[in-house]
Amino acid sequence: MSFFSSPLISWTDKGLYCEAGGFHIDPHRAVDLAVITHAHSDHARRGHKKYLCVRDGIELLKTRVGKKIAVEGFAYGEAFALGDTTVSLHSAGHILGSAQVRVQRGNEVWVASGDYKRDRDPSCAPFEVVPCDTFITEATFGTPQFVWEKDLEHGRLIHEWWEETAAKGKNCVLFGYSLGKAQRILAELAPFATKPVLIHSTIAELTECYRREGKVLAPTSVLTDVLYYLFDSEELRGELILAPPSILREGWASKLGRFETAFASGWMTPGGFGFNRYDRGFVMSDHADWDDLNLTIRQSGAHRVFVQHREGELIRHLRKSGIDAHHVEQLRVDNYTSLGGTVLKLL
Ligand SMILES: [Zn+2]
Ligand SMILES: [Zn+2]
Repeated sequence: MSFFSSPLISWTDKGLYCEAGGFHIDPHRAVDLAVITHAHSDHARRGHKKYLCVRDGIELLKTRVGKKIAVEGFAYGEAFALGDTTVSLHSAGHILGSAQVRVQRGNEVWVASGDYKRDRDPSCAPFEVVPCDTFITEATFGTPQFVWEKDLEHGRLIHEWWEETAAKGKNCVLFGYSLGKAQRILAELAPFATKPVLIHSTIAELTECYRREGKVLAPTSVLTDVLYYLFDSEELRGELILAPPSILREGWASKLGRFETAFASGWMTPGGFGFNRYDRGFVMSDHADWDDLNLTIRQSGAHRVFVQHREGELIRHLRKSGIDAHHVEQLRVDNYTSLGGTVLKLL
């Protein structure tokens, strides 16, 4: 295998940068042209002159970074030219409109994954394997302890917890992130819920974006509206309340009557930070677990892999299996030429 002597996508102070195409990917400082993998705040920031993203994700992006941004949307798999490169966006299975970014120059193909998962999720398109020479992968759960059971019926399990708790006269408070996790829970609950789920106000507008994109979600009411119409002597009973983890710091707890808590997250895996901190846990992740990270890297066919977020263990593991793996910082232009073990020549 041979590689170009300069990286098609490099690592800069603003994040991932494709000089040949004249664009950044998920830059963390203001740039002229930003390809955005998805609307989570660590990927989609304010202040770029122009945004490119998947069409399904435009409304979420505007809700997060501003209604008046200059943004152009593309279908999954639609190729478009940027500078000397051809770019296309492919489903990452992470949240609505989430993408991996495929960049081609000549016959060299790089893919930057953004955040991704392989688990079934009725609220977004399934993950697509994108063959490439070089793969820049996230690795949020990049240690072998993070492996979870696939194909659990999350909606049924959450609904059972709701019914059991309601039978005790209590409410359920289910914590999940406002964008992505909350709507996935609502989509999983759609076949089971017989009354509205009460959602925190930070979840409401994002949830409407999903509905406008045609996603079938459980019925919802906004928690503050419901509390507003309660008499002073009344309290909630038998409700399922879906809220970001910050809710208990907002002074809400006293208004929620008696309740049990649960967290829906990959961090509910034994050894994760959420394990044993709640009455119940639903291991339900927005990210690939250790097995799916390795599966995806293998299926991509990449000979060279750069790892973002939790890198050490995955890099060592990949090297043992013969893949040329590095920390993403090795994509700094100065570092790149020093990578050992590869032939550097133009294809
Ligand atoms: Zn994300
Ligand atoms: Zn992220």
